[in-house]
Amino acid sequence: MASHIVGYPRMGPKRELKFALESFWDGKSTAEDLEKVATDLRASIWKQMADAGIKYIPSNTFSYYDQVLDTTAMLGAVPERYSWTGGEIGFDTYFSMARGNATVPAMEMTKWFDTNYHFIVPELGPNTKFSYASHKAVNEYKEAKALGVDTVPVLVGPVSYLLLSKPAKGVEKGFPLLSLLSSILPVYKEVIAELKAAGASWIQFDEPTLVLDLDSDKLAAFSAAYAELESVLSGLNVLVETYFADVPAESYKTLTSLSSVTAYGFDLVRGTQTLGLVTSAGFPAGKYLFAGVVDGRNIWADDLATSLSTLQSLEAVVGKDKLVVSTSCSLMHTAVDLVNETKLDSEIKSWLAFAAQKVVEVDALAKALAGQKDEAYFAANAAAQASRKSSPRVTNEEVQKAAAALKGSDHRRGTNVSARLDAQQKKLNLPILPTTTIGSFPQTVELRRVRREYKAKKISEEEYVTAIKEEINKVVKLQEELDIDVLVHGEPERNDMVEYFGEQLSGFAFTANGWVQSYGSRCVKPPIIYGDVSRPNPMTVFWSKTAQSMTSRPMKGMLTGPVTILNWSFVRNDQPRFETCYQIALAIKKEVEDLEAGGIQVIQIDEAALREGLPLRKAEHAFYLDWAVHSFRITNCEIQDTTQIHTHMCYSNFNDIIHSPRIPSAEEIADRIDKMLAVLDTNILWVNPDCGLKTRKYTEVKPALTNMVSAAKLIRTQL
Ligand code: GLN
Ligand code: ZN
Repeated sequence: MASHIVGYPRMGPKRELKFALESFWDGKSTAEDLEKVATDLRASIWKQMADAGIKYIPSNTFSYYDQVLDTTAMLGAVPERYSWTGGEIGFDTYFSMARGNATVPAMEMTKWFDTNYHFIVPELGPNTKFSYASHKAVNEYKEAKALGVDTVPVLVGPVSYLLLSKPAKGVEKGFPLLSLLSSILPVYKEVIAELKAAGASWIQFDEPTLVLDLDSDKLAAFSAAYAELESVLSGLNVLVETYFADVPAESYKTLTSLSSVTAYGFDLVRGTQTLGLVTSAGFPAGKYLFAGVVDGRNIWADDLATSLSTLQSLEAVVGKDKLVVSTSCSLMHTAVDLVNETKLDSEIKSWLAFAAQKVVEVDALAKALAGQKDEAYFAANAAAQASRKSSPRVTNEEVQKAAAALKGSDHRRGTNVSARLDAQQKKLNLPILPTTTIGSFPQTVELRRVRREYKAKKISEEEYVTAIKEEINKVVKLQEELDIDVLVHGEPERNDMVEYFGEQLSGFAFTANGWVQSYGSRCVKPPIIYGDVSRPNPMTVFWSKTAQSMTSRPMKGMLTGPVTILNWSFVRNDQPRFETCYQIALAIKKEVEDLEAGGIQVIQIDEAALREGLPLRKAEHAFYLDWAVHSFRITNCEIQDTTQIHTHMCYSNFNDIIHSPRIPSAEEIADRIDKMLAVLDTNILWVNPDCGLKTRKYTEVKPALTNMVSAAKLIRTQL
C-alpha cells in the first residue's frame, strides 16, 4: 500500500508564516526568528504526514516566497540589477528579487496556471550565468531525515522552469529559452548527486507544463532533458508529476517513454481524460502510477467509494504494487485544516476536507486498496456524501427550475444597442465623454473600524447606518464638487467585492481560517458555495437609493458579476461550474431589476475575474467564454432600454493591476482620450479611472480626479 502527497500549504494553519515574514520585512524580528517559525512549520507538516501513514512525503515544498523563485535561487539565475556577488543566496537577495528593495524593483509575478497562486517569473537570456547557489532542497531533505522522516525531495522540473520563464530585459522577445537547457542541467545534476549522497531514494520533478498545448519542439526538450539526466538519476526512483489538467495524448506518449523516469503523477480530478488515456493508450510496464484522486484545488471531502473504484480500475492496468494513491496537485491550493473552523456548523463541516483531512483520505484509500479498509471511516464518509446529496440546504427546487428554464435562449436584449443608447441618452442627458469612477472611494481606517464594530455587535445597526450614510454623503458631495457626471456611492459598506455579496446570498458559507496563498505572504479566503444560490433579500438597493436621494445627478448602482463571484469562490463539485454560474446570474438579475425599480438608471456589473477562469487548453476556451458571457447577459436581459448597463473588467486581469499613487496630469489624460478617440466613436467613450479607488488616499484621489474632469472638459471644447 502506498500513498503520496504532491505538496502541502506553507503558510501554517493560522498563517504563522505570513506573520513571521511580514514582521521580518518590517524589521520587527530577526532572520533567526523567521527561520525558527519556518523550521517548526516544516517539522509539524512532516510529522503530520508521517503519523497519518503517508509513504511518500514531499520535502522542499516549503518556500519563504515561491517555489519558482527558489528554483531561480538554486540555479543562481539572479538578474543583474540585484548586484548579487555569488555564494549561497541569502534572505537579502532572495527577498529583493521577490519584493524589490529601495533601489531596484521586484521581478515580475504572474498567475500559476489557472490557480489564484502567483509565481515569480524567471528572467533569462544568453548571458545568464548559472551556478548552484541555493542548497535548500538538500538542506530540507536532511532536516526531515534528522527528524526521522525519509522524504521525496521535490524540484520544479527543468523544462517547466524554462517554459515558465521570460526573456530578460534587453534580450530579444523571441529568444529561445529552451536553448538554456544545457546550461541549467549541470546545476540540476549537482543537486541530484547531493540528494543521492544524502540518502534520497526518490526524487520528484514537477512538470505541470506537460498539461498545456505543447508543440513537438517543446516535447523534444522533455526527452532531451531527462535523457541528459539519466546517468545521474540512475539508482533513484524518479517521479514526474503533472497537474491541473490531463496530459494531452501526444505528450503522454513522450512522457511515458522517458527511460530515466520510473513514476508518473497524473491529476485525475481536473484531468478528466486521464483515466481513459491510461487504460486505452497503455502504461509502461514496471513503472509506478501516482494517481491524483484527492482534489488539491477544492475543499470537499473526497467521495471515497468512487475514488476507490477508480483506483481499482487503474490497478488492473498498472499492477497492484505499482499504484500509488495521491493528491491531484499540491494541497497548497486548498485551505489548511478544518480543525480550526469553529464558525461552520457540523453538517457543512462533514462535507469538507482541507489539506490536513485530505492527507488522511489519501492514506485511507491506500490502505483500502491494500485490503485494510477502515470500514468505520468509509461508512462515515459515505454518510456525509449522502447527506450532502439529499440536504435541503443544498437543493432549492425553485432555483433548479429557474436555472433549467434558461435553456434555449441566448438572453440578449430585445432591442439593438444603438436604439438603447439613444433612449438612454434622452433620459440621462449626459455631456459627451461623460465622467465617472469605478465604484469604491478610499477605505479609511475609521471606515474599517465601523464595519468591524458593527459585525462584532459593538455598535448598533442605527449607529452603523448613520456612519455609512455620512460617508456616502461625503463622497457624493466630493463628486459634485469635482463635477463628475455619473456618481457612485463609494462602497463604504463593503469589505470585499465577492464576500459582500456571498454573505447575503443563500448557498454560501464562510470560513474563519480557510486561507489559501495567493503570492508571497498574501492569502485569500474564498467563500464556499455549497448549495443552490438564491437571493433572499435585496443586497445593495438600500444603499444605492440612499445615495441617489442625496443628489440630482445619476447615481450608478454597483454589483459584482456572476463569473467573478464564481471564480473567486470554492465551488460545488456536484454540478458543472456553469450551472452554479447561471444560478448566481439569476440572483444578480433580481438585484439589477430591483435597482432599476428603485430608480437607479445606470448599473455597473463588475467582472474583474472573467479572464481568470479561462481553461488552460485552447480547445476549451470557446465553451467557457460562451457560458461566462451568457451568465453576464442573463443578469440584465430583461431591463428597460433606458437603463444603462456598465461593466468593469480590470483589463480582465485583476491581479496584474498596479494600483499606483501616481497622479497623472490633465494633459496626460487628455492625450490618452485623444488616442482613444482616434479609434472609438465619441458617443461611446467614457472617462474614468482604470479601477476602484479603495486602495488610494484622498490626497491622491482628489487631484487625480480633478485632472481627469479637466481633461474631459478640455477635449469636449475641441470636438
Ligand atoms: N467596483 C469595484 C471597486 O471600485 C471594482 C473593483 C475591481 O475591479 N476589482 O472597488
Ligand atoms: Zn478594477
